[in-house]
Amino acid sequence: MDLDDARRRLDEERTRLEEVRAGFDDLHNESEDESLSELSSNDQHQADVGTETFNRERDLSILERVEGELADIEHAMQRLDDGSYGTCEACGKVIGDDRLEAMPAARFCLEDQATAEREARTGASEPGPA
Ligand SMILES: [Zn+2]
Repeated sequence: MDLDDARRRLDEERTRLEEVRAGFDDLHNESEDESLSELSSNDQHQADVGTETFNRERDLSILERVEGELADIEHAMQRLDDGSYGTCEACGKVIGDDRLEAMPAARFCLEDQATAEREARTGASEPGPA
C-alpha cells in the first residue's frame, strides 16, 4: 500500500473517531443534568434511572472501543514514521494490501490477529476445551 495513502486514511479515521468521542462527551453531560433533576423532583423515575445506568455502561464500552481504535491509529502512525508500517508485529511478515485497505491500523497479519483474538476471548493462560 502507498504510505501516503495509508497516512491519509489513518488521519481521516482518527478525525472520525475523535468526532464520535466528542459526541459521547456531549451526551454524558446532558444526561447527567437530566437524571439529577428527575431524581430530585420525581421518585417514579426510578426505573428510568436504571435504564440510564445501563445506557451509560453501554456507551462507556463503545467509548472504550473508540479509545482503543484511536490508540491503534496513533500506533500505526508511529510505525509509518519509523518505517515498520505494514509488517506484522508478531511474526514480522508483510501484512497484505487487502487487509490494510480494510483496516489501515492493523498491527498483525490475519493469522496472528486470529490468535490474539482467541487468546483475548479465552484468556491466554487458560487451557482450551479438549
Ligand atoms: Zn503475523
